[in-house]
Amino acid sequence: VIGGLPWIEPLLARCLQAQQSHALLLHGPQGVGQFELALSLAEAWLCEDAPVGSPSTPGCGVCTSCHLIRARSHPDLLVLLPEFFQDSLGWGSGAAEVLDAATDKPNKAKKSKEIKVEAVRAVVAFSQTTSARGRAKVVVLHPVEQLNHISANALLKTLEEPPGVARLLLSCSCAPDHLLPTIRSRCQAVSMALPPTEMAAVWLQQQGVEDAQILLAASGGQPQEVLAWIEQGLTAALWVQLPQLVQQGDVQALAAWPLPRLIDALQKLCHDAACVAVGAPSRYFPAGLLKPGPDLPTLMQWMRELNRCARHAEHPWNAALMLAALVQQGQHALQMGALLPASMQPRSVDSFSP
Ligand SMILES: [Zn+2]
Repeated sequence: VIGGLPWIEPLLARCLQAQQSHALLLHGPQGVGQFELALSLAEAWLCEDAPVGSPSTPGCGVCTSCHLIRARSHPDLLVLLPEFFQDSLGWGSGAAEVLDAATDKPNKAKKSKEIKVEAVRAVVAFSQTTSARGRAKVVVLHPVEQLNHISANALLKTLEEPPGVARLLLSCSCAPDHLLPTIRSRCQAVSMALPPTEMAAVWLQQQGVEDAQILLAASGGQPQEVLAWIEQGLTAALWVQLPQLVQQGDVQALAAWPLPRLIDALQKLCHDAACVAVGAPSRYFPAGLLKPGPDLPTLMQWMRELNRCARHAEHPWNAALMLAALVQQGQHALQMGALLPASMQPRSVDSFSP
């Protein structure tokens, strides 16, 4: 499969064998390969080694069509991907056929995430032309949650009745019910789950990631997220130090992370501290790293504050002030426990009402 993600192979096979609608919505947690599954489906549909019609096997990888896709120059494939996501998905930089979704970006330094209406109009025009190589016309649109209301509306008619042999692959990293119902209802949904841990860890090791197990747990089991986070400065050493850094109120070591990453990391720390406080295993941090003791209501207070900040993490906060405040709260929450007598029994989750 394209992208070499072994865990999407069974799903690819199931998608190809099932009778598929002309528009699929591939959804699942961030970083499990929605984009790669979409490309692999496109390759299968356009592959010239398969019988014409509805191919039931993955692309052969060697025919002219498969070569054109991998060279990013297939005339019947349109990949619509905002600039922001192009590098991380390895599908940007110089690929002429990639339609830049942000056609009117005024500031080149700030890469756009949005899919603008001009780009959707190009999709509509593309799907109305005849197939150059006679198999199909395929549009891959990622991530569909970046359609705004205007661009979503521009897509509706094509989504409902794609002209001729056009097929659309929409992918997203959110729950389908976060999308406009008008988009959702016109697509057949394909749900993607987290990959098996062992398979994901081996894949990460093959990408040159050390301590893959620790980082995979840190990401919540989302292997492509691990790679993205490493780019932003995550290491296993830093991750296992994180509880101590927060407890010491050390803001400096974390200042390089983008604010949404930092809030995510603190939410995971808070989650695990609460788990350990009630005797449950931690999920994101290695077992034994967090000690029982922190006061559960104080942790929950911190969690509420983190959740509130997470909802607004993309806002132009003063990141340094925000970071200091969040770490200080965490320091307070984690140190509360250190002062408790060891004999004190942790409260159960049931006794806490949010
Ligand atoms: Zn082929």
